[in-house]
Amino acid sequence: MKNIALVGCTGSIGRQTLSVVRRYPDRFRICCLVARSSGESLSALVREFSPKTAALSSGGRADVACSAFYSGEEGALRAVEESGADIVVVACGGFGGLKYSLLALKMGARLALANKETLVCGGDIVMPLGGEIIPVDSEHSAIWQCLNFERRAPFKNLIITASGGPFRDKNFGELEGVTPAQALSHPTWSMGAKITIDSATLLNKGYEVIEAHHLYNADYASIKTVIQPQSIVHSMVQFEDGAILAQLSNPTMELPIQLALTYPERLDCALKPLDWDSAFALQFLPLARKKYPMYDLALACGEAGGILPTVLNAAGEEAVAAFLKGEISFCDIWRVTDAVVQGAANCAAESYEQLAACDAAARSAAQKVISKRYNVN
Ligand code: MG
Repeated sequence: MKNIALVGCTGSIGRQTLSVVRRYPDRFRICCLVARSSGESLSALVREFSPKTAALSSGGRADVACSAFYSGEEGALRAVEESGADIVVVACGGFGGLKYSLLALKMGARLALANKETLVCGGDIVMPLGGEIIPVDSEHSAIWQCLNFERRAPFKNLIITASGGPFRDKNFGELEGVTPAQALSHPTWSMGAKITIDSATLLNKGYEVIEAHHLYNADYASIKTVIQPQSIVHSMVQFEDGAILAQLSNPTMELPIQLALTYPERLDCALKPLDWDSAFALQFLPLARKKYPMYDLALACGEAGGILPTVLNAAGEEAVAAFLKGEISFCDIWRVTDAVVQGAANCAAESYEQLAACDAAARSAAQKVISKRYNVN
């Protein structure tokens, strides 16, 4: 029986993690549930799973019947630490996820990692801690599977696939008038709002390249991105002899989520199998870099390293929020983010506190750019 602490239990990845736990109640026990602010959903989940600890990280109160309920960010970290988890699933979005990942590794727990910021912003301080990190993101899980579950196995190239998002067939210039609703309709994956917009700009793919650099100790020159519109090939690894291994399945997050929990075992996850009795085609298209300036910006920040990926992440998040509120256009997401990144001075990433300060500074810089350039108050 494995004890699981689930951070971000009411989000998209969190809910799917709980459905894996429901599928295998004799293997997994939820020992800690952390939600950000949805007290009612948390209460319902605590009634169902009876964890040892629970927390609302935004600081709210909840009518929760468990032996230890905590409130606020420090309280949520305490809830995870006191739960005695074997596996910590960090499924919350945002920079705050980095703190839970650092804690999980310090606890000696398996870190099932779905939070992007952990490696995008904190890769330089997380990876030296060692410990067991299992990627939950479908691309990184695919690479891990192709490497025979050995993140340090040798390879020549990592080939990350991208669906290309809803605007694959449009040029960047044609996207000025795109509405949030259009940008939120992803062709193949159903995900949270922030990551869906980041998938439309391909910033998310840029983040995945940065994560792959840290997870697999890969040079940026050895990581390639290719458009795979069907989202069936989840990523590939090319080896020294030229052989390429790929992982295929219908698009679902339950497979990588479940594998992160059950590894080294593979168990049924109710996945709809590919239908070999019907004809279907898999396409691979080169990435048209000009269409996706956010991808290029992410790679430039990744290659520069230091605190720049943190600046990028914070500015990008503010810009996406402004776009979703109708304050700036889809193309302005890049303009705002780029302006903040160009204005930042880089230095080495050394601690969580330093990165948190960079995160806050970049957010206020982004707010300034948005209010100055677009007359938003
Ligand atoms: Mg992904």
